[in-house]
Amino acid sequence: MFEMAKKYMSGGVNSPVRAFKSVEMEPIFVKSARKSKLIDINNKEYIDYIQSWGALILGHAHEEVVEEIKKQAELGTSYGLCHELEVEMARLIVKHIPSVEMVRMVNSGTEAVMSAIRLARAYTNRELIVKFEGCYHGHSDGLLVKAGSGALTFGMPSSKGVTEKIVSNTLVARYNDIESVKELFDKYGENIACVIVEPVAGNMGVVLPKQGFLEGLREITKEYGSLLIFDEVITGFRVSINGAQGYYNVLPDITTLGKIIGGGLPVGAYGGRREIMELVSPQGPVYQAGTLSGNPLTLAAGIKTIKIIEKDPDFYSKLDELGKYFEEGIVSALGDFDVKVNRIKSMLSFFFSKQEVDSYEKVMNSDVEIYKKLFKYLYENGILLSPSPFESLFISASHTKEDIEKTVHYFEKFSKKLK
Ligand code: PLP
Repeated sequence: MFEMAKKYMSGGVNSPVRAFKSVEMEPIFVKSARKSKLIDINNKEYIDYIQSWGALILGHAHEEVVEEIKKQAELGTSYGLCHELEVEMARLIVKHIPSVEMVRMVNSGTEAVMSAIRLARAYTNRELIVKFEGCYHGHSDGLLVKAGSGALTFGMPSSKGVTEKIVSNTLVARYNDIESVKELFDKYGENIACVIVEPVAGNMGVVLPKQGFLEGLREITKEYGSLLIFDEVITGFRVSINGAQGYYNVLPDITTLGKIIGGGLPVGAYGGRREIMELVSPQGPVYQAGTLSGNPLTLAAGIKTIKIIEKDPDFYSKLDELGKYFEEGIVSALGDFDVKVNRIKSMLSFFFSKQEVDSYEKVMNSDVEIYKKLFKYLYENGILLSPSPFESLFISASHTKEDIEKTVHYFEKFSKKLK
């Protein structure tokens, strides 16, 4: 199938990380997926910790979500016109994401970020943006600058085809290093429209914000009249129902969302304070549109997902428990290898590193060769980690303690094999 795929699609894939190049393997082709498990076209089953790169917090094909999608499909799959689900989704996002007063739905995280940046530039009448090394914000031109995710894996800090002119408006600071941000503001502060950050970095593996980092960004942007954008495409509804901003209690001006709010269908959203959002067309002069934006199937799936989360007051603590169990299992199984686990609730990654991993530099200094071997060993035994150590692993609400126990068992066997 991969041979055929390569004939018709560049690299045989629709998104680079799926090619499994980072582990020097061939991709799997999925036949079906349910709860925590995937089945490939050879009928091999895997416990899946990719979970569509964090989109599936309830696990694959959650029955109630699928039911909502079916019901909506009968009523029409796209209108390109206003409908009630749009209002309901906007209400839910505004209710839960503390800094968001108004929101716009789009079709991907990339689109959400691209629109948010345009809006920040319009609001401030400034050109420059600041991003962080190792953070990924989708594949729009101005943000493919020392990007993480697939790009980082392949050691391509930026992409061919992105012009120097566009990139010259993007300044790159170091994650968890507020001094590097201050340096940029000292020099260019009057012309910086916004700082965009993953409040928990999830695209160089998971790197948690050090105490004071997000607060520092809030302060400095306020001081210079720049906007702070939290890219919560991964963390929104993942680290808490109020996103990372609720968890850390630091409120940005604009928030981008994606993944979970689409319940497994294509989605993105951006929102923020009313006075900023009112600049968006047709109310204001900032153009942004979309044929399929606010798609009813996506919104049916997303609304159901959020409502399932809302209903269970212990939703995140149960995920946290599973995450902790996994974390402890990894540490005990790989204890001899100087392993460091970075985790917040149900997103985690582990690094083969002697020192704590709290920066891009330390991520890059970790040992990826052991990860590759481990990935392959687990894959052979029906456990699917991310093929890149620079991506987060995701636990869903349908993972069980038995799934984690089985996973840890194979971590232990791998560890013994290597000794
Ligand atoms: N922002 C973050 C933090 C992401 O992790 C991603 C994708 O992984 C994006 C933006 C881009 O989202 P999409 O792949 O939906 O375009």
